[in-house]
Amino acid sequence: MSKKSVAKEAEEILLATDMIQLGARLQVLQAETSLSYDRLARLYREVKECSPPKGMLPFSVDWFMTWLPNIHSSVFYSIYRYLDTHTPAKKSRALVEAYRLYAEQADGGLGTPPGEEPVLSFTRAWMLIRFFDSNLLQLSYCERCKGGFIAHAHDPQAGFVCAICRPPPRAGKTRKRRTTSATAKVASTSPRAAASGKAADADSKRDAIALTQAGVAAGKLAKGPAGRTRSRRAANVSLHDTPELSPLASSGALSET
Ligand SMILES: [Zn+2]
Repeated sequence: MSKKSVAKEAEEILLATDMIQLGARLQVLQAETSLSYDRLARLYREVKECSPPKGMLPFSVDWFMTWLPNIHSSVFYSIYRYLDTHTPAKKSRALVEAYRLYAEQADGGLGTPPGEEPVLSFTRAWMLIRFFDSNLLQLSYCERCKGGFIAHAHDPQAGFVCAICRPPPRAGKTRKRRTTSATAKVASTSPRAAASGKAADADSKRDAIALTQAGVAAGKLAKGPAGRTRSRRAANVSLHDTPELSPLASSGALSET
């Protein structure tokens, strides 16, 4: 109780509030702040108007390897790494800012519909960074599109092709099941509906590609307050955040948009 700074505590409460709004679990808040469990639980109830969910955190490394989560997590992690290295936002602040940017881009650049969670939840995004910090994961660079994608640590990098350049044959089935469950039910019985199932599949692939393009393309994102614009621009270069590109970004080569 002795030397606890009020300013520091206020900062932590604001950080925790941001994280709760983005969907953080209580365990995440406990790890990222020094606030007591009781205060965090109370804050959670105030912000969300419901009790915090119980149970274990999702801790699977393999989840990040399945194709759609891999694309989403790779976009998120690239934004996070860019913000953490090139802006004043560090660690948990960078996590919050990066997750906001990711959520804006998550649904094919349209943003996540209200009441729905993006493919990569905030808690998983937090786990992802911890996995990187523990050297369980690495970024592998696709030899076709040159983007950095999440892979198991020590996986061979030579000849790596990403999940966008070479989507698996069954890519998009999960999303189809979730979004068009009615169609999917018929799809298994009639050949006509099976065709529409294929269309949903193609939609899902297009979404994934749109997501990446949103993360890569410069232009049309330049509107809005200056700070916002800069962080959006950060997102634009993030997936290709190679050493050769970073000077380009900092020299303002991308700023004429
Ligand atoms: Zn690729």
